[in-house]
Amino acid sequence: MWFRSEHHGVGIAFTDATEGNLATHTGDDPAVVRQRRRTVECELGTGARGVRFVHQVHGTTVHDASGTDAPEQAPEADAAVSTDGTPLGILTADCLPVVFVGRTDDDAAAPVLAVAHAGRKGLLDGVLQHTVGALEDRGATGITAWIGPAVCGDCYEVPAEMAEAAEAALPGIATTTAWGTPGLDLPSAADALLRERGVSVATAGTDRKAWCTLEHRALYSYRRDTTPQRLAGLVWARNGRDTE
Ligand SMILES: [Zn+2]
Repeated sequence: MWFRSEHHGVGIAFTDATEGNLATHTGDDPAVVRQRRRTVECELGTGARGVRFVHQVHGTTVHDASGTDAPEQAPEADAAVSTDGTPLGILTADCLPVVFVGRTDDDAAAPVLAVAHAGRKGLLDGVLQHTVGALEDRGATGITAWIGPAVCGDCYEVPAEMAEAAEAALPGIATTTAWGTPGLDLPSAADALLRERGVSVATAGTDRKAWCTLEHRALYSYRRDTTPQRLAGLVWARNGRDTE
């Protein structure tokens, strides 16, 4: 496990290679992946309900996964939210996995949970803002976000035209890689836009080189290995109705 923490009765975790590939859509044996997911659920104590994942398509749709019945097919979305403690997961290998916990004014209510997958496209198209909006629509007031392992600005090289276009859409995202070529800094851009949106960003992961998927073998990197393996960002209510 790369990172594990607790925040007001909510568990937050980001897996690493120790937990293995957790994606069912990239060619791995689905039965083996399901077993790995169960092992992670047991280790973290996410409760009786399985972690809900979505079918990620680099879009901005936020799926509401509240409720006990998981759909047969993961719905197409790049973010998910739950209001009843239903555990959520998001899969990445270089893109940003972002986990959200929203507190509500109703102390008896479960916290509002969310996850989002933000690559270059999703970030520029506003997937994080959509996710924050979905949290607020469900009564979340104080929202905290954790930006998980992702490729850092030193390592994410893109063509110059792409860097220019991204910078025009989201000022501050363009950077220069460690080897002097045009690049994008997705984690810093996400951090800045979340803060601007009134979200508290957790200090875990602030040192982006220490959380860079490309620089650490314990993390999966599509850019480094063209790997079908994916890491998971996870959030669950520790004292949700079905978690004991
Ligand atoms: Zn890096």
